[in-house]
Amino acid sequence: MSLSFDPDQISLPIGHFIGDRLLETSGLLALHRPSDGSFYAECPVAPEEIVDEAVQTARKALKTSNWGGVRPRERANVLKRWADLIEREADTLAKIEAVSSTRPVGQLVAGDIAITAEQIRFFAEFADKEGGDLVPTDDEHLGMIMTEPYGVVGAITPWNFPVSMAGWKLGPALAAGNAVVLKPSELTPFSSVFLAQLAVKAGLPPGLINVVLGDGPTTGTAITGHPDVAKVSFTGSTGAGAAIMANIARTGIKPMTLELGGKSPQIVFADADLDQAAAAIAGGILANAGQACVAGARLIAHAFVGEPLVEAILARMKAVRAGPTWDAATTYSPIISERQRTRIHTIVRAACARGAECLAGGEPMEGKGYFYAPTLLAKVDQSSPAISEEIFGPVLTLQTFTTEEEALRFADHPTYGLAAGLFTRDVSRVMRITRALPAGTMWVNRYGRSRDHILPTGGYKRSGIGKDLGREAYHANRRSKSVLIHVEGLS
Ligand code: NAD
Repeated sequence: MSLSFDPDQISLPIGHFIGDRLLETSGLLALHRPSDGSFYAECPVAPEEIVDEAVQTARKALKTSNWGGVRPRERANVLKRWADLIEREADTLAKIEAVSSTRPVGQLVAGDIAITAEQIRFFAEFADKEGGDLVPTDDEHLGMIMTEPYGVVGAITPWNFPVSMAGWKLGPALAAGNAVVLKPSELTPFSSVFLAQLAVKAGLPPGLINVVLGDGPTTGTAITGHPDVAKVSFTGSTGAGAAIMANIARTGIKPMTLELGGKSPQIVFADADLDQAAAAIAGGILANAGQACVAGARLIAHAFVGEPLVEAILARMKAVRAGPTWDAATTYSPIISERQRTRIHTIVRAACARGAECLAGGEPMEGKGYFYAPTLLAKVDQSSPAISEEIFGPVLTLQTFTTEEEALRFADHPTYGLAAGLFTRDVSRVMRITRALPAGTMWVNRYGRSRDHILPTGGYKRSGIGKDLGREAYHANRRSKSVLIHVEGLS
C-alpha cells in the first residue's frame, strides 16, 4: 500500500499535552507546509504558567508512580511497549510529521520512526543493567557510588528531525527514571505530542512526558529557567545553546547537555575508492537537503582526484527526486521555511561574489514549496561565510589540497567540531588524522550514522557539550552520590 497521502485530510493533535490531556489553547504562530507553502495550522505558545503546570504535573507523576524507584525491569517493559506502539502507528505518526516538516513520508517510516523505536528499546535495556559501584576504600569503610535520576528533565528539540530528536531525549531520560517536559520546535510541534500520547497509551504513567508547545524566547526560556527542572537537554543552534547557558547561569545552576551546530568536512585522499566516496559525500549533503547537524558540507579533496570525484557527485546531485513530503516517491526535501531558503541563497550569492565558482544549483527550485537546488561551490576561500557559517542547506563547498597538512588545516573549522568524514585506504593516515582533528565523530570510508546506537554523538568546540545516544546519554540522565559507611569490626 502506498504511503502517499492528502495533507488536507490529516488530523493534527494541536495543543499542549500535560498529564494525559490535550490542552487546546489558541495558536499564535502561523505554520506553513514547507512542501507547498500553504498555511495549515497555528502553534500555541505556552507562557510561564503552562510550563509551570507541566513541571508540577511531572513532579507529581514521579511521586505517585514512583517511576525512579520502581523495579528497573518494569520501566524497561513500559518503554518497550511504547516502542512497539510507535511501530504499529508508524504510518499515522509519519503523516503528522511529514505535513509540517521537511521529512518525506517514505523516509520517515523506513528510517526516522523505525530507528526511534529501536533506540527507545536500546535505552530501555540500560534500566536494569547499569548501576552504581562498590569502590576500594580502607578496611574500616564500605565505599559506594549510588546513581539516581535527576527528577524533571527539560528537553528542547529542533525542527530538522523532530521524531528522532524527541526520541534521543525521551528514551534515555525515561529509562534512567526521570520525567520529561519536552518542547519541540515551534515549526514542527505536533509529532512530539502524538509520540507522548502513544507513550501514555502504552502504559507510561501520565505526567512522565509532558509536551509544551511554543517558541524559544517564551516557552524555551521558561523551561530552562524553571527552578524545578533539574537538568536541561538541548539540541539546536549554537546561538540558542549560548542563550540557554546564559539563562541557566542567571536563574540557577543545573547540568545541561547541548547538541549544537556543525560544519563538517569530508576529506578525500588520492588513494580513496572514488565511487564509494562520491556516494557517501553526496548522501552526506543531500540527506534532508543538508538540514542536518552532521551535514558533510565541506568537501576537501586531493587535487589529483578533484575532477573525477566532482563529476560523480554532480551526477548524484542531478538525480535527486524533489517532491512534496507526502509523496512516497520523494527523496529530496524542501527547506523548512522561506526565510531559511532566503538565508541559504544570500550566503551562496555572497560566496559567488567573492569568486566562488558555482558548478551546480545556486538557485531556489521553481514551483511550489521552499526547495533549493543541490549546490556545489568550487574555489571557495577559507574565510568565506560559505565556509565559516553553518548554512543548513544543500550546499557543498569544494577546496583542494596537495598535502596532508593542508587538508588538516582546511578541515579544522575555527568554530565547529561535530563530525568529519575521511576517505583513504591508508590506515596510518586514518589514525593520524583521527587523532589530529577536533571532531566528536569520525566516519572513515563512509558518511553518516549507522544503526549502532551505542556510538555516542556530540560535538567539540562550539558544537556542544555532552553526548546523545550511547551509554553516555543514559548516564547523563543520572547523577551520582558517593556513600562512605564506617563499619565496625570489618578489619
Ligand atoms: P534553533 O536553535 O533555532 O531551535 C532549536 C530549539 O530551541 C527550538 O525548539 C527553539 O524553539 C528552541 N530555542 C530557541 N531559542 C531558545 C532559547 N533562548 N531558550 C530555549 N529554547 C530556545 O535550531 P533549529 O533551527 O530548530 O535547528 C537547527 C540547528 O540545530 C542547527 O544549528 C543544527 O546543527 C542543530 N542540530 C544539532 C544536532 C546535534 O546533534 N548536534 C542535531 C540536530 C540539529
